[in-house]
Amino acid sequence: MARLTKTTRGWCSPERYVQGPGEFKNIKHYTDKFGKRIVAFIDQFFFEDFTKQLQTYYSGNGYELHTIEFNSEVTEEEIARHAEELKDWNAEVVLGIGGGKTIDVANAVAVPLGIPNIVIPTTAATDAPTSSLSVIYHADGSHKGEFFFDHSPCLVLVDSEIIAKAPVRFLVSGMGDALATLIEAEANRKSDSPNLVYNNDGGFKRTVAATAIARACYDTLLRDGLKAKIACEENKVTEALENIIETNTLLSGLGFENNATAGAHSVNDGITSLPEGAKTYHGEKVAFGTLTQLVIEDASNERLDEVIRFCIDVGLPVCLADLQVPNTAENIRKIAEASMHSCWGSMPFEVNADMVEAAITTADKIGERYKKQYKNALLV
Ligand SMILES: [Zn+2]
Repeated sequence: MARLTKTTRGWCSPERYVQGPGEFKNIKHYTDKFGKRIVAFIDQFFFEDFTKQLQTYYSGNGYELHTIEFNSEVTEEEIARHAEELKDWNAEVVLGIGGGKTIDVANAVAVPLGIPNIVIPTTAATDAPTSSLSVIYHADGSHKGEFFFDHSPCLVLVDSEIIAKAPVRFLVSGMGDALATLIEAEANRKSDSPNLVYNNDGGFKRTVAATAIARACYDTLLRDGLKAKIACEENKVTEALENIIETNTLLSGLGFENNATAGAHSVNDGITSLPEGAKTYHGEKVAFGTLTQLVIEDASNERLDEVIRFCIDVGLPVCLADLQVPNTAENIRKIAEASMHSCWGSMPFEVNADMVEAAITTADKIGERYKKQYKNALLV
């Protein structure tokens, strides 16, 4: 088990975080301090629309804009190819506009080019936008590892109108990812494990700020999650939706990186080892992983009850059937064994595959029972 050997505290975060309705149209204001040569990686789904908008913002006055449609895997080869192609273009700032993979490739390409990166997420589905790492894949789509940078994005710009118009399932999935933040932070605090802030020495001790942010992440979810989901279903930006966008993106992002992950993300990783794992989003699997972690640590009934009711209220999975994974003994064993390669080591006690198998089986049955007996999705 990885344990801290020093008491040195470490923290990382983007230089700036800006969130509000219509903020995308102010992008030029934020890039002007870096220069006039802008390169933007854009998700294929939004490519034409965002290219047109950027062309209007950056027309005349010596601006040069180069947009790249991104629709492949984030591989080392792909990052090197883009960096090589852009080398002589002399870009002064790179934008990553879209979901996780587009953001990850833009951030990774900025490193060899030695230029600042701005992240513009188009959903609030995960806590990746604020982080200083990119997830790297093999060409066949399988997970290869993480590429850690020694700096975070210089700006994360979130346009809440764009988020409100995205499918609500993305927002709910982001709540699942955020739900794990406090539960995993508490495990890391108890075990005194290093956080995920990059250094050559394997992470730092968490700051008081990191602990407070994980708490705020959980409390805001419970208070505003359902209201935000309802607003998003109507494509309306309300204060509760703004709070949840911030929770899913900033609080969850700062929270996981400055505290580290534990059992919930290990179960997510275990589920992705099954073919059915691809049917659901990251945060949906993490939500069930959170229940599993609470079972393995024998959390209080009040905490379990609170988490399960929240998941049912907003529509997050509470059992394997919700994740479209048949709850056979064989599947559960596979998830448990695959999850052992992840971050159970940051729990405050030794965890083995038998314990995880028992916890998944039990969490699944508890979730099924709640689904039968608890149906009210009211605010109090
Ligand atoms: Zn996550």
